[in-house]
Amino acid sequence: MEVTQSRDTQLAGMQEALACVHCGLCTQYCPTYLVTGRETANPRGRLWTMRALGEGRLEPTPAVLAELDSCLVCRACESVCPSSVQYGDVLGAFRERTRKRGFWRRQSFKVLEHPALLRALATLLRCWQRSPLRMLRSLLPQRLRRMEDYLPPVPPTTERQPLPALTPAVGTRRGVVGVLEGCVMSVLFADVNRDTVLLLTHAGYDVCVPRGQGCCGALHEHDGDLQGARRLLQRNATAFAAQPLDAIVMNSSGCGAAFHDARRHLGAAGNELSHLSVDAQRFLVDHGAALRFRPHAGRVTSDAPCHLHYAQNETSAPLQLLRRVPGLQVVEMPDAALCCGAAGVYNLDHPVMAAAILSGKLDSLAATGANILLSSNPGCILQWRNGITERGLNVEVLHPLTFLARLLSA
Ligand code: SF4
Ligand code: SF4
Repeated sequence: MEVTQSRDTQLAGMQEALACVHCGLCTQYCPTYLVTGRETANPRGRLWTMRALGEGRLEPTPAVLAELDSCLVCRACESVCPSSVQYGDVLGAFRERTRKRGFWRRQSFKVLEHPALLRALATLLRCWQRSPLRMLRSLLPQRLRRMEDYLPPVPPTTERQPLPALTPAVGTRRGVVGVLEGCVMSVLFADVNRDTVLLLTHAGYDVCVPRGQGCCGALHEHDGDLQGARRLLQRNATAFAAQPLDAIVMNSSGCGAAFHDARRHLGAAGNELSHLSVDAQRFLVDHGAALRFRPHAGRVTSDAPCHLHYAQNETSAPLQLLRRVPGLQVVEMPDAALCCGAAGVYNLDHPVMAAAILSGKLDSLAATGANILLSSNPGCILQWRNGITERGLNVEVLHPLTFLARLLSA
């Protein structure tokens, strides 16, 4: 992907960068700085760079722009900044003005917006994965090969059917909630969607899956396509407004962050999405008293997706929920809040840096001695599975709701 910058793409909207007092508190939380040690690869350096570009004090050379492009937009820096620099907004606005997306990249993001196309693509991928032609994968272009490495086995059509429009509560009814099926989640993680419905209904909630909903726009936002992200959020705002809901329960951290930030993108039109959306683990901690889990003697640890930890400021629910499983050993992973390197499609765009970032995290995972790792973001799950296979660790990576659904007492 090409990144461009011209003098007339000035620092409109970059006043936030001026709030940076260069204290450097954020630098030790920045994954790319921890790997490279370069000032230009940390938040302070990147803010300075964007400002200098806008003011014409710096030439937009490929090296300068590549350093900006290597940011994960994990937003760890925001959480520690004493000046409240909204780094994600600053970089998002910069990317919107400067990123040039090639034809194929634009088309691949478009596919996410059309569930029928996405389902057709999933069927093709499944055929490919089961075909003897797969032996020729070494002939694929490098980027396609990398995508192929990350893809899990695509489930058969029968296992990725849309969720029912309404699934009634089991036992005493406590309310009604909405669920987003998502794009990637609906084809590659349809089992997680079903597990979400199972847990919510057993917690006493009717589960609605409004028709007309779709991709949340998180990947578009990550890519600097803010217009595309707004369009998709608006579609969801309309779909979820069609029926009264107590909450919209989000099982993917990336999608949860997009809905959480809908107000920022859509203004008043995004109020309902922002107000009603809640991470599924948080919802079950607060409203899942009816759930009972069978004892489990395993040792698990949990990674904190940036979209949950930083973007939604949800830091405690995942471990709180796991502690409800009798006999389960829950081990905290060192640096759990550090990005794993997935970051949208960052691991495809920047495979070397993404692997270097994950390498340190794999050391942390190995130190826990856990045989199950839980993560609530689909991109992070794939990134972890790929790294764990390459490292040869014996650790299963699951979505926390799948893990809990397996232990649900009838
Ligand atoms: S912590 Fe905030 S103010 Fe300090 S260098 Fe980082 S962005 Fe600037
Ligand atoms: S968003 Fe993450 S990768 Fe980017 S500068 Fe901040 S801490 Fe570093």
